[in-house]
Amino acid sequence: MSEMEENLRNVRMAIAEACKACGRAESDVTLIAVSKTKPSSMIREAYACGVRDFGENKVQELCQKAEELADLDITWHLIGHLQKNKVRKAVAVAAMIHSVDSLSLAEEISKEAARIGKVQDILLEVNIAEEESKFGLTADDAPAVAASVAALPNVRLKGLMTVAPYTPTPDDNLAVFARLRKLAVDIQAQNIDNVSMSCLSMGMSNDFPQAVAEGATYVRVGSLIFGERHYDI
Ligand SMILES: *Cc1c(COP(=O)(O)O)cnc(C)c1O
Repeated sequence: MSEMEENLRNVRMAIAEACKACGRAESDVTLIAVSKTKPSSMIREAYACGVRDFGENKVQELCQKAEELADLDITWHLIGHLQKNKVRKAVAVAAMIHSVDSLSLAEEISKEAARIGKVQDILLEVNIAEEESKFGLTADDAPAVAASVAALPNVRLKGLMTVAPYTPTPDDNLAVFARLRKLAVDIQAQNIDNVSMSCLSMGMSNDFPQAVAEGATYVRVGSLIFGERHYDI
């Protein structure tokens, strides 16, 4: 078994175990393999192991890889901060944009999606732990933004995303994930037309089992699948 096969087997087993422990169906959780900084050849390898959902955090890298891998049936997720001047490129490629953190960004996405006759699936990114270094709406602002986003014609709001703090004791993040889930329930309870809160994107290599325990429907796992990232700058 190759190293990547083994990595993927371990991650999938951990997801299955976490699902079993809380009585969820494994099929409720989609594993997104976060391939940022890794070459397309490694994406092909993961694809050969059955992965279909891949996540990138930079639009340029996303577009380049999508082009190189156009022969594969990949569902691309944009998980990193999105600048307005890159929305056109992002909308052309991404099945889901996880990182929408303002109404004006959602408006730009809707405009560009309309231009190409697409309805773009999006999540609102919420900075649940209120870390200064992180992007995302505050939990207080999210319900009103959700209501405004719902009125846009060419985006479909499907749920919420968060990047939890790094912690050596991942159980600390159970409370963060629970708060995102509760926020989704509260927004769902507003009964806004055109809004569902069925997707929760939360959990990374360090804490995805905890995220599954608290209701994640997407987990975003990079280094446990592809190995540590090396940034050569
Ligand atoms: C890089 C990244 C991940 C994956 O991180 P790992 O710790 O390598 O699993 C998940 N989500 C976002 C938003 C990221 O930028």
